[in-house]
Amino acid sequence: MTDAGHWLESLELHTLARAAGQRNFELALESTVGYASPPELEDDALVATFDDDARVELRCSFDRKHLFGRCSQCTSTFGPCVHGTMLAMDLSGPTPLREALLHGGDVREAAAEAPELRQSLHRERTFERSLRGWLAPAAGAVAVEIAASPFEEPKRTEGRPYGERTSSNLGPTLSIFVRLAGERKLLSPRELSSLAHFRSGDRRVLRYAHDNLFGRKSWQARGVDAALTIEAMREHGGIFATGYKGLLDFRRQTVRPRIEIGPDQTTIEASWVVEDTILGTARILASESVFFAGPFPYLWTRSGVIYRVAADVDLELAEELVRAPTLPIPPGKMKDAGARLFRAVRGRGVELSAPEAFGLTPIETPRFVLRLSGEPLSLEGQLVAVYRAGELSLFAGDVLREGEDGRDREGETQAAVRHSWIHVAEQLESVLETVTLRGNRVIAA
Ligand SMILES: [Zn+2]
Repeated sequence: MTDAGHWLESLELHTLARAAGQRNFELALESTVGYASPPELEDDALVATFDDDARVELRCSFDRKHLFGRCSQCTSTFGPCVHGTMLAMDLSGPTPLREALLHGGDVREAAAEAPELRQSLHRERTFERSLRGWLAPAAGAVAVEIAASPFEEPKRTEGRPYGERTSSNLGPTLSIFVRLAGERKLLSPRELSSLAHFRSGDRRVLRYAHDNLFGRKSWQARGVDAALTIEAMREHGGIFATGYKGLLDFRRQTVRPRIEIGPDQTTIEASWVVEDTILGTARILASESVFFAGPFPYLWTRSGVIYRVAADVDLELAEELVRAPTLPIPPGKMKDAGARLFRAVRGRGVELSAPEAFGLTPIETPRFVLRLSGEPLSLEGQLVAVYRAGELSLFAGDVLREGEDGRDREGETQAAVRHSWIHVAEQLESVLETVTLRGNRVIAA
């Protein structure tokens, strides 16, 4: 005890958070536990029992900077437990409970009201914090410049070919750099730890990024997170390329994997092709690009151009192709490899060399014919693929079987889809009208 009065009088909320620890403070603030037996002063100690049967004894150091608690339920190694913190909280500031204890009053009644006071304090603080979070993006947001590159690798993997690098199943890494607008110095994630202070577009870009474990001044996003980050960067429109030399170069064209025979006829190689109706196709080597699979798959080329991957591409197959883009073929096995490849990659969004290149029978492009028969209100249709060797009905499921070389199965499938019954019925409406009109004209004549 000092001449400044009882130590209870120096309890304040803002010092309690430090004395009890932030976590205990938050837990105490959220607690609705009441008193089974209200606080009492026993010499220099404060004693109380809570509803959950915890009996606490709280003391204060001579310099009034530290609180010590003893609790029948918690084994706290340092400072007061949640119960001790709760007790101190109910007596911090000029609360009715403190007034009653120190200056005589109905302690029991004041203690009964304590949980409710704690609750309103909690609401008030939550409100303040939430409101700050809501207001921060609009007011006083920090203007930053963000740059990104998938080719900035941590030291430990530098110089390794990409095929080996992807041995990690987390996927490729995107490095992201942040600096204050107009400044050269890069900021570490720690220096810009509060996302609430970024502009919303910047925040979206940095949402999936993490601290760089290698301690460099960059953020990182891996795998699917990286793909989501790239999509946010495309929407942002103002993200820089590495070294802040110009903006990221997003293109409208899509890319898809292409499988073809290598120049010396002993390998089958996978690469990417850019699909452009005007410029034709361009090839991108797997080793000259980084593929990000995810809900928005992207291919980031070493030249800095970034393409969307075509929507029908099987991403798992693409990942396999990128992991091992070159397949050595033993002598005499090219035809067999080609036949198996054709079966395996069909319908998975991969472009493949012509079958002749693998020594397979060339594919004959058939004519597709839709034959209608029957009465106007009871039509029957037959879709057939007409090859030199004969016709195949495409509505009957059994003819789409494997093993007949030279058939354009992709064309057959597309035709079957194009002429599915729903589609055919739509088209017949106009046909029937023509028939009726012609009939009318015949009658009128
Ligand atoms: Zn306790």
